[in-house]
Amino acid sequence: MSPPLSRVLYIDDDAALCRLIVRSLARKGFDVTSACSGPDGVALVERERFDVIAVDHYMPGRDGIATLEDLMAIEDCPPVVYVTGTDEGKIAVAALKSGAVDYIVKSADEDFLDLLASTFAQVVAQEDLRRARDRAEADLRATNQRLEALLREVNHRVANNLQMVMSFVGMQANAIAGDLDAGGAREVLRKTQARIATIAQINRRLYSTGELLQEMPLGSVHESAYGAKYYHLHRADLHAALAATVRELDPAAIVLDSAARHFSETRDSVTVQFASGATASGDLLIGADGIKSAVRSQIVGATQAEFTGYVSWRAIVPSSRLPPARILLRL
Ligand SMILES: Cc1cc2nc3c(=O)[nH]c(=O)nc-3n(C[C@H](O)[C@H](O)[C@H](O)COP(=O)(O)OP(=O)(O)OC[C@H]3O[C@@H](n4cnc5c(N)ncnc54)[C@H](O)[C@@H]3O)c2cc1C
Repeated sequence: MSPPLSRVLYIDDDAALCRLIVRSLARKGFDVTSACSGPDGVALVERERFDVIAVDHYMPGRDGIATLEDLMAIEDCPPVVYVTGTDEGKIAVAALKSGAVDYIVKSADEDFLDLLASTFAQVVAQEDLRRARDRAEADLRATNQRLEALLREVNHRVANNLQMVMSFVGMQANAIAGDLDAGGAREVLRKTQARIATIAQINRRLYSTGELLQEMPLGSVHESAYGAKYYHLHRADLHAALAATVRELDPAAIVLDSAARHFSETRDSVTVQFASGATASGDLLIGADGIKSAVRSQIVGATQAEFTGYVSWRAIVPSSRLPPARILLRL
């Protein structure tokens, strides 16, 4: 089945030219209707659907620009091509500013009819593309709204489930009678409950920009939970303090520039081979050699670090610029 002809409305007071255009453009695949004045053309657009409209500039009564303004006032008006009698830039600019999508200079030869046909074809194709894009954008907006609703629902359910788990853990903690709590089970359960509360708090604030994701209670809250003050210190200072203490206990304990390669075990001892060829033996080996640990690789095999997809940026903000509620203690 051949596609439907594009419907064109040609508004011009020159009846002979209109008849010529109707006949000629029919051969080029357009279904052209003509109107011999601006108001007649506007009335037709209000009643019928056209794919493209052409408006002539020089018309008695309401001229092309006035007609164009009337057309633009119609909701969802088809694209308008402006036809001027002269190659006058000012008229073309005024037409484009008033809402025409293109303009053509009228002439008496066959070229004018070809130009009309190719311009109409181009405008109709552009309009089809615009409508397709609008439909795609509307679909995308609808899909996004559905996904956001789904995300809110999932978030809500996770929050509810975490709340239930927290309540169960709390009930378990309460159920442990004082004399049965020799191993500190109640305290362990209380801490577990607090951790779940933190996860629930993070979950509540996920997917919303600019909100607080996590809070670390410091000051007296930290002190009562962990029995010590919370300090910030430079990593190198911590290293120096730890190294000094170890050296005080055994000046030869720290040996730098010694990459462990491999270890071997007997029933009573373990021996580490270093890259330098040196070895060291002891009762126990603690492999604290970081994320690419050679010791761990020997025990569990080579493991690949995996990117979780989380990226975080860190910054230091002067405490003077924090809102007062966030400051527990200013030193
Ligand atoms: C920029 C940055 C900021 C961070 N900030 C924080 C923070 O504020 N708070 C926090 O809790 N965590 C933070 N972390 C994470 C924290 O640093 C690490 O989780 C922690 O250092 C890991 O300790 P580790 O002892 O397992 O390994 P590492 O600290 O990496 O120590 C491993 C040590 O083993 C040595 N080594 C490696 N291979 C061998 C080998 N074959 N033989 C002998 N020695 C070997 C290395 O030289 C290194 O000295 C941060 C990490 C980075 C990268």
